[in-house]
Amino acid sequence: MNILVATSEAAPFAKTGGLADVCGVLPIELARRGHEAAVILPAFRQTRQAGIPLEPTNLRFDIPIGNKIVSGRLLESRFPGSEVPVYLVEQNDYFDRPELYREGGEDYKDNCERFVFFSRAVMEAIRLLRRPVQVIHANDWQTALIPAYLQLEYRHTHGYEDIASVFTIHNMAYQGQFWHWDMLLTGLDWKYFNWRQLEYYGGLNLLKAGVVFADTITTVSPTYAREIQTGEFGCGLEGVLASRAADLYGVLNGVDYGEWDPKQDPRLPVNFGVSNWAHGKAACKMALQREVGLPTRPEAPLLGFVGRLADQKGLDLLEPVVRQWAAEEDAQWVFLGSGEPRYQSVITALSQYCPHKVAVRIGFNNDLAHRIEAGCDIFVMPSRYEPCGLNQMYSLRYGAVPVVRTTGGLADTITDAAPEKVEAGLANGFSFQDYSPAALDNTLRRACETYRHQPKTWEQIVVTGMKQDWSWARSADTYLEIYAKTLAKHLARDPALA
Ligand code: ADP
Repeated sequence: MNILVATSEAAPFAKTGGLADVCGVLPIELARRGHEAAVILPAFRQTRQAGIPLEPTNLRFDIPIGNKIVSGRLLESRFPGSEVPVYLVEQNDYFDRPELYREGGEDYKDNCERFVFFSRAVMEAIRLLRRPVQVIHANDWQTALIPAYLQLEYRHTHGYEDIASVFTIHNMAYQGQFWHWDMLLTGLDWKYFNWRQLEYYGGLNLLKAGVVFADTITTVSPTYAREIQTGEFGCGLEGVLASRAADLYGVLNGVDYGEWDPKQDPRLPVNFGVSNWAHGKAACKMALQREVGLPTRPEAPLLGFVGRLADQKGLDLLEPVVRQWAAEEDAQWVFLGSGEPRYQSVITALSQYCPHKVAVRIGFNNDLAHRIEAGCDIFVMPSRYEPCGLNQMYSLRYGAVPVVRTTGGLADTITDAAPEKVEAGLANGFSFQDYSPAALDNTLRRACETYRHQPKTWEQIVVTGMKQDWSWARSADTYLEIYAKTLAKHLARDPALA
């Protein structure tokens, strides 16, 4: 099969979150299975600074944006260590900026224009590259117009008739909502600006375009696929998602164990696996305590958090719990994150309040993220919602027992250490349902009690998690099944409707 993945992020070219991890690995896994996969993304400043050679091509295009014409060209690269092509859309006014989407807590004002341009550039690139494409796989609001362009503008264009579209939602909270006049930038007819298609409460909603026009929609875990059809998680699009339930699938993301494996992780002071985890983690814990300036105390449980500092991640639950624990409990905390300024202040204040128990690093630091997974006894993810979540899966492999809220991908990957689950050898973490500081506090206490007083049970939980395989193999196979089904459905569509 020929698949083109269109995305605004793919590691190691551009990354702000899990989207980059998915789009950086899935194409390589598809290629490994004998398929022709390629990726296309914007040539951001971050991409140019990634240290990977980008070759210019002579493929140029002029894109109509509102009443102007904007030019761009394609650059070409490959994923390091693979032959999988990566195409980059160069347009420096739009993409040569310090950040990808926002600076200083404010979105770039022309985000709609930037990603209308990118989506149209992808459509043109298909023609210019003369690459046969059977499935175009778009991701999130930044590329959500692609299924709409395919269906509304290119369906009768030679070479595009048989291209099927899959659209993946990585997070419902980011929808690409703009004022109605931005409809002019899309170049689509105003007749599509209605409540069933591109309009949402008077504005333009790009994510909705993807949901409405894609042949198939996926999201990143089976539980999240169900949740987003409800008012609590659908962020206003639950109705339109429910109306497409027959074409909506949940596919859990996988872990790139080439990057995330404590047995061969070069960032760790000591490598370890299932057979020597206790020794390895003790050494990593002590090194981590030193690195972040905490007292080197092997007996105190060390709890870690790594993530974007956003509403989603449950920081409002963590704050009161960490504050209370810092005063009363013999436990240590290490936080690594960046994001909303108000949450940066909240967690910085926690470390100032009790520096010998709480260490905080603000910023994005991949190496430290690995060492936190390796050095912590417990990894905390009290997310309000979590489409898939990768950190809990990394934690499992690194022997940091996850304490999570049962939502989305966390519900699909973490089995609570209830006695019967421990007995059955299934438990790999601790979880709670109620979104409250008390429920988090209780669950953390349960975890710490087990850590301190039931070493055999703790070992079993750690080892169960370390042995589990959450690799891309399973996810890539599922995507291939979905591509094949989508293509068959697309080709069998009623020609009268075409
Ligand atoms: P999300 O996609 O919602 O941000 P995920 O858990 O799916 O959350 O993926 C987050 C990814 O970004 C993980 O690879 C995680 O390690 C990484 N990450 C997030 N924040 C940081 C940070 N401050 N420093 C290093 N890595 C981070």
